[in-house]
Order: sequence, then structure tokens, then C-alpha cells
Amino acid sequence: MDARTAFRLLADGLSREPSRDFFPWLSLRLASIVEADVLAVVRVLPGGRMARTLSLCVDGAIVDNVDYALAGTPCEKVTERRVCLFGRDVAGDFPDDVMLVDLGAEAYLGVPVLTPDDRLVGLVAAIYRRPLTNSGVAQEVLSIAAARVGSELANQQAEFALASTERQLADTHHQLARTNRALTLLRLVNRVVIRSADETALLSEVCRLAVEEGGYQLAWTGVAQDDEQRIMPLTCSGEGREFLDECHFSWAADRPEGQAPCGRCIREQTAQLLSPLVTSPAYAPFADVAERYGLATEVALPLHLGSDRQGVLVLLMNTALEVSDDELALLQELADNLSWGVSALRLRREQERMQQVVLDVAEAVTARSNDQFFDHLARRLAGAMMADAALIARIDDGVPLSASMLAGVVDGQPVENFSFEFSGIPCGENFHDAERIIPRWVTTDFPLVERLVGGPFQAWVDRRLEDASGDAIGVIILLFRQPLLADSDSIRHLLSIFAAGAAAELERRRSDTHIRHLAYFDPGTGLPNRVHFMERLHSAILQARREGHRLALMFLDLNRFKEINDSQGHDVGDEVLREVATRFDACLAPGESLARLGGDEFVVMVEQTEEIHSAQVVGRLLNALASPILFDGHRFNLDVSIGVAFYPEDGDGPRELLKNTDIAMYHAKECGSGYRFYAPEMGHDLRRRLMLATRLKEALKNEKLELCYQPIIALDSGSLVGAEVLCRWFDNELGWISPTEFIAVAEERGMISELGEWVMSEACRQLAQWEVAQLAILPERLYVNLAAAQFEEPQLTRQLCSIVERAGVSPGRLGLEITESGFMQDPEQAVRITEQLRERGFALSIDDFGTGYSSLAYLKRFAAHAVKIDKSFVSDMLTDNNDYSIVATIIAMAERLGLRSVAEGVETPGQAKALKSMGCHLAQGYLFSHPLNSDEFERLWLAEAQHYSTTNAGSAANAGSTTDGGQEDVAANRG
Ligand code: C2E
Ligand code: CA
Ligand code: CA
Repeated sequence: MDARTAFRLLADGLSREPSRDFFPWLSLRLASIVEADVLAVVRVLPGGRMARTLSLCVDGAIVDNVDYALAGTPCEKVTERRVCLFGRDVAGDFPDDVMLVDLGAEAYLGVPVLTPDDRLVGLVAAIYRRPLTNSGVAQEVLSIAAARVGSELANQQAEFALASTERQLADTHHQLARTNRALTLLRLVNRVVIRSADETALLSEVCRLAVEEGGYQLAWTGVAQDDEQRIMPLTCSGEGREFLDECHFSWAADRPEGQAPCGRCIREQTAQLLSPLVTSPAYAPFADVAERYGLATEVALPLHLGSDRQGVLVLLMNTALEVSDDELALLQELADNLSWGVSALRLRREQERMQQVVLDVAEAVTARSNDQFFDHLARRLAGAMMADAALIARIDDGVPLSASMLAGVVDGQPVENFSFEFSGIPCGENFHDAERIIPRWVTTDFPLVERLVGGPFQAWVDRRLEDASGDAIGVIILLFRQPLLADSDSIRHLLSIFAAGAAAELERRRSDTHIRHLAYFDPGTGLPNRVHFMERLHSAILQARREGHRLALMFLDLNRFKEINDSQGHDVGDEVLREVATRFDACLAPGESLARLGGDEFVVMVEQTEEIHSAQVVGRLLNALASPILFDGHRFNLDVSIGVAFYPEDGDGPRELLKNTDIAMYHAKECGSGYRFYAPEMGHDLRRRLMLATRLKEALKNEKLELCYQPIIALDSGSLVGAEVLCRWFDNELGWISPTEFIAVAEERGMISELGEWVMSEACRQLAQWEVAQLAILPERLYVNLAAAQFEEPQLTRQLCSIVERAGVSPGRLGLEITESGFMQDPEQAVRITEQLRERGFALSIDDFGTGYSSLAYLKRFAAHAVKIDKSFVSDMLTDNNDYSIVATIIAMAERLGLRSVAEGVETPGQAKALKSMGCHLAQGYLFSHPLNSDEFERLWLAEAQHYSTTNAGSAANAGSTTDGGQEDVAANRG
């Protein structure tokens, strides 16, 4: 082929658009142009040691490309950028070039291929099986082709680079999109985390977002279970949820199921990524299921669900795409935020619970305290702190430290109170610290804790209870069978509230005890006081009722103690009372208790007793004061009046019983007998007397009393001699009240001198009025009764004289009637007074004679004029021999002593006749007249005294014919 033809052929081919078969075409064309047996277009591989044919034409046909090492080949020479021609025996020159040898090459022509920017990228070689002599045209042709190959290769490289850049770009773009999605997801999740109010709702929402916004096929959360090392799904969203039903994930390191990302994630607490799932050995147990649901990639992210609960968030994709580090980091952040959200929720819930608990506790500790206060508190405490045991104890005085339980709850049940020592239990150490919290293994360090309420326990919490000055007064102890997980801040907070409540109550009780002591004990004697005693009595009565026992109550009142107070002062009085209390107390046996009711009043309760035993107790008590009390150089002779009443017959309740002992005591005092057992009449008496006293006072003030007059008749003549003044009281409600009754009341209540004065002045006024009117002259005297109490008044004579004087009457017109008992109180003074009275002109009668104990001989010492024979003798003298002889004796002895005798209560003419025959001078009684008011007395007796005394003299004395004595009869006689 000539040069011109060759170049034209080449140019035709080279102007073609490069295509995939460019190199094969080129090598075929070149081979024919340069008439070579073999033609190779060769690329030198990076590094320059290896070469690869881009096309290889052997004997006019394209064969498979080959790679070959350049070393030891003619091509190696070409890579040195020069055209190489080996015209003959080339195989001999390059014996290591196996290809040349195989081809049976004789000649070789090689041209380097350089890129337009002069980089060596390959070569074009022509091989001949014959020697090559004229190579000028061939060399030119190959050089032109090489230039074309160079630019072609450069193009290809550039295109390749571009393509790979584009691929990279696309990749980056995809990842960016994923990262963006992860970011969006994170943002959304964060929003949900902030807004969510409930843990499960939060986890569900996150799964939904992961699927809908994050583009994951399936998202689920699970929690690690301690016992079986299973992972329990909590929430799930997306396609193929059933996948979860079929897979049982585990976090056990030694189980095949534990090798999946979720298990490793829980174990290792780091994010795990696995892709592709189906072929991965770690996913083997779930490969089938994963394939069925088309799941290819799994990302597992650790979740912290609070208080040691380990969780996992799992995201599954249906592509085996790689997850970039950025995306993983974002997902990790998402999981962290979710964890934070969950724990924030838990915290919030815990705070809410705490708030409720605090409210409960506050309510409990401020509840009105009662006996169950500490029981309730212990129960609340255990509930609020979720403790298995709660104990509240008071610290005992003394060393070593010990405490006595106030209340305890173990496993929801109250326990019996007991005492325990601090040594060997946690509060024995550093008890000056407010609290001790031992979250686990408490029994390892303090084996004694087990014995406290019966172990085993893991955790211990205790808290000091302090009084206002910060001293320890008690302790709260909590025990837990499980290690303590709750955070200690909230424990401290709660405990402090409980402690404040418990301490306040404890202190209140302590001061209560103090106040109680003040309220329940008499400070003077240290004895229980009335309040305390009444409570005791109350429960003793209840017990007696239950057990069918009798109970004696004794009321003790010192006699004339007031005198000591008045004369020696209260300090001395108090000392004497203390000594009295000590003596009483000393003489009592168990079952007999003493209390002070106030003043000089004491009370003794004798449980399970009867009369004889009670009388013995009374004897002991009376005897206790037998020897005088010596104090401050004084001797005090004291005695006591005791009233005794029995439960149940004398009173069913404490008050009634006490009131009746008081009544019995009163009677004992009245009759000076030392003691009296209660009798029902006494009670009636006293109540009425109390009422009468009040009303009598009113009556006296308002001048509601009246006087009436009963004539005294001379038995021999039947004429009016005098009259006895008798007091009358009509109460609007009670009606007529007997003077016997109200005089006694007046005496008791210290109203007698007032009453006596009024009677005396009213009697004198009346006497004066009669005298002024000159109606009639009362032949002898008007007799006024004097109460025994009046006779104790040393100034009596002067008082009476001044009344008489004021009224303008003479004492010679008046007689005074005094009962024996009036003389007996203080006989010496009585003698003096009667003498004074007699000196002043008053006449004196001894009233109710015969009822007392004094003998007539003794009475002679008193300056009396007359004795009045008590009506009880008179009324029975005609039927009772004994009374008859008493009356006869009195009359005879009075006669012998120079006293006049007056018979009282003469109701029948027979009595009058008998009395007269016995020598009795005077008489009064219904036979002659009932007591009359002043008008009647005036009209019936005074106006006609003269007439009566003259015309009817002796009519009464001779009234044997009259069947019944009385005013009407007398009036009739006079009529
Ligand atoms: P006394 O001094 O023995 O008075 C006589 C009592 O006998 C009077 O009772 C009188 O009403 C009552 N009497 C008179 N005739 C008969 C009769 O035929 N049969 C009966 N069964 N009784 C008769 P009275 O008025 O109820 O007074 C009772 C007592 O009260 C008096 O007993 C006297 O001790 C006392 N008393 C009355 N008025 C006064 C007073 O002004 N001062 C004082 N200190 N005592 C008074
Ligand atoms: Ca009288
Ligand atoms: Ca009398």
C-alpha cells in the first residue's frame, strides 16, 4: 500500500465519532494499513508496570484483550516515550517476552501514546513474522493513530472521572436527604417530647414520626426485661408490625437472638447498625422473617427509660443503604432526647405523685391528733415512701440510746410496739445527722436490722425527730426489701415533712404530759386532783360493773380546819394539809386510792370491797390523825369526818356516788360521829336543804316570813299566861315550810342570826304594838325561840338587848326558849350567857326537854326559869308508861329545882288533866289553840283575855269533856 492510500484510509477511520468499538476498528484498520501480523492498542495501567490491551488484532481478527507485564518486553522501551523499531529477530532480543515468542515474531514497531497534556497512557505496537525493512510509512501511520488514541484515552478518563463524580454527588445528595430527614425527625420528636404528657403516648408518637416523617419502614421501642433477658416491645409503627409478633428479641449475650442490633444496643449502650439483615449471621434467627417483610437495614438506639430501665428504639429500612455517620449521630441524638423526654415525664409524674404524697402527708401530719395519730402516720409513711416497714419511735432517756415504738407498720400490717437499742443499727451511727439513707445491702453491714421487725431487708432510711431546740426526741425508720431506687432528694424532702409532723406531735404529747400532770395533780400535795380522780372513778365503776364488784367511795373533810388557816395563815395550813395527805396515803393499801378534791377535802376509793373492809379503811383513816400534827412549834389536833357510799347501791355513776359520800360526810360531821355510811334519806334531805337555803335567803331579804303566836295556858286556871312566837314561811312554789326544817337550814347556812334578829325584832314590834294599843295585856311573857347556833354568839345578850331597846319593850316581857343542844356546844359560855340574860330581865326556858342527854342536875347550873317537856313524851304519856314516868319525873324534878314546867303539844283534855294532876303548871297545844297569826291571836286571845280569864277560867283545864283540842273548840267555848 502506498503512503497516500494508507493515510486516506486512516483519516477516514479516525474522523469517525469514537464509539465503543473504536479500538477494535482502529487495530484492524492499522493492521491492514501497515500490513502487520499483530496489532495492539495498549493502555499502560497506573504504576507503569502492567499493560492491558485495549484491542488486539491477530492475523486480521480481533482477539480477547490481555494484561501483561511490561518488564522485558519491547513495549517497555516504548513507555520510555520513543518509537522503537526492531527490524529482525525481535524474539531473540526479548527472550522473556512470551507473547512475542508464541507469535513467532520477527519484527516489532512500537509508538508511545501520549495524551494531549503529554501524559504517557499507552502505546500502539505492530508485530511482523517477517523482517521489516522499510518502516517509514508504517511509523508515520502508527504515530498519527497513537495521537488519536491518546486523545481518546484522555477523553475516556475524563468521562469516567465525571461519571464517578456524578455518582458521588448523587450519593451525597441521597445521604443529605436522609440526614435532613433525620434532622426533621429529630425536631419533630423534640417537639413531641416537650408536649407529651404520657410515656407510652410519647414512644408511640416517636415511632409514628419515624415512619411517616423519617421514611423508615418500621419503627418500634422496647424495654429490657431483667428476668428473662427478653426485649419487650412497647410501641410500634409502620408496615410489617407483625414482624414483631414473630420475633422474640433478647439482650442475652450468649443467645443467638441476642446478637441482633437491638440486643447488642441494650448490652453495650451504643447505637448499632446492621445491613443487609438477611445475609448477616448476627441476624440469622430473624433472617426469614426479615426477608418476608422486606427489611434490609436495622438501626438500634439505646433509650434510658428512667430508674435503671433500659430501652431501645429500633428503626428498620427496606433498603440496604448505608447510614451515614451524620445520620447515625442525629438518630443517636434523637434517642437521647427521647430518653430525656421519658425521664422528664417520669420526673414530672414522680413530682406530681410527690406533690400528692406531700399533700397527703401534710394532711396526715396536721390531722387532729388523736390516739391513732402515729398509727395513721406510719401507714401513710410506708405508703408514700413505698417502704415495706415504717416505724415511729420515741427516744428514751438514758445512755446507751434506745427508743420505744409509738407505731409501726410492716407489710401493710400494724405491729405491736416494742423498744430497741440503737447500737448495731444504722441510726446508732452519726445520729446527730438528720437522716441516713442506705440504698442496698443494709443487712450486710448491720445484721441486727433483720431482727428489728423480721428481715431480710435491702435498704434502710431513718430520720431524726427533733424538738424545737433541735434535740433528738424520736426517730422514723423505713425498711425496704428491694434496693432503694428513688432519688434521695425526694426521700429527704418527704421525710422532712413527716419528721416535722411527727416531731410536733411528739412534742405536743410531751408538753401534754406536762400539762396533763398540771391538770391532773394537786400541786400542794402531789395527789391526784378532782379531774383525775373522777376519771379514775369512772373507769373503776365501769370495771366494777363488768366484774360485778362493789366499790366504796369515801369523802373526807377535816373538821375545823378553817381555824388553822384563819389563825396560822395559809402557809401553815398548806403544810398541815401536806402532812394530812401523807398520813392518809401511808395508811392505804393497794386497791385503795387517795385524791384531793380541794381545800381540806379528800376522797378515797376502795375497789372490790364490802362494808366490813370499808369500815376498816375508815378506821385506818380516822386513826391516821390520832396523833397531833407538829409543825413550826405548833401542835394541831385534827380530826376528820368521813362519808361512805357504795357502788352500785348508793349511786350508779361517779357524780352521784361522790355527791352521796358528800351527804354522808355532812351527816357524819353534823352528828360528830366521825363517819357515816350513806342512806337514801340523807340525800333527799340535803338537796332540799340546799334549795331551801337559797329561797330562805330571798324570803328573809324580801320580808316574806311571818310570825304566829301560840298561847301558853295556866293548867290550873286555864287562863292565858303567855305565848310562844313561831316563825312561818310560805313559799310560792314549795308551800308552807316547817320551821323545824328551815331553821335547821338557816343554822347550817349561817343565816340564823339574821333570821333570829328578824324574829326577835318582829316579835318585839308586835309586843310593843299590842302594848301601845292597850288591847289587852299578855299576862306574862312572849316566848321567842333561840337556835342553838345563836347561843354560840358571844355578843348574843348585847344583840338582844339592843333589839328590845329599839322596839321599846322591856326584857321582862320576853322569854327565850333554848334547846339543850344550845347549851352543850360550849357549856361554860352558855352558863355565862344565861346569867347575863337573866340579869337583863329575860326569862329562859329549856326547850324540848328530855330529848337531849343532859341531866336536870346539870341544867341547874344554867339560869333557866322553866323546862318545856317535849311533846313527844306528852303525846304518848297516856299510852306509854315509860313516857308517863319520864313526864312525871321531869315535872317533879323541875318542881324541886325551882323551875316551872311547861307541857308542849297538849292535844287532849286527858293529857291536860293528867299533866295538871302531876303538878305541871303550864301547857300549850292544839287543845287550847293552834299557833295563830297576830290578828287572830289578838282577836281571839288578847281582846278577850280579860273576859276569857274571868268567865272561862279553868274551862281548858276542865276540858276533859271536850273531845278534841283546838282553836275552834276554844273559840266555840268563848263564843
Ligand atoms: P318548838 O319550839 O317545840 O315549838 C312548838 C312546836 O309544836 C310548834 O311547831 C308548834 O306548832 C307545835 N305544836 C303546838 N301545839 C301542838 C300540838 O298540840 N300538837 C303538835 N303535834 N304540835 C304542836 P312549829 O311551829 O312547827 O315549830 C317547830 C319548831 O321550829 C319549834 O319547836 C322550834 O324549835 C322551831 N321554831 C319555830 N319558830 C322558830 C323561831 O322563830 N326561831 C327558832 N329558833 N326556832 C323556831
Ligand atoms: Ca319552842
Ligand atoms: Ca319545843
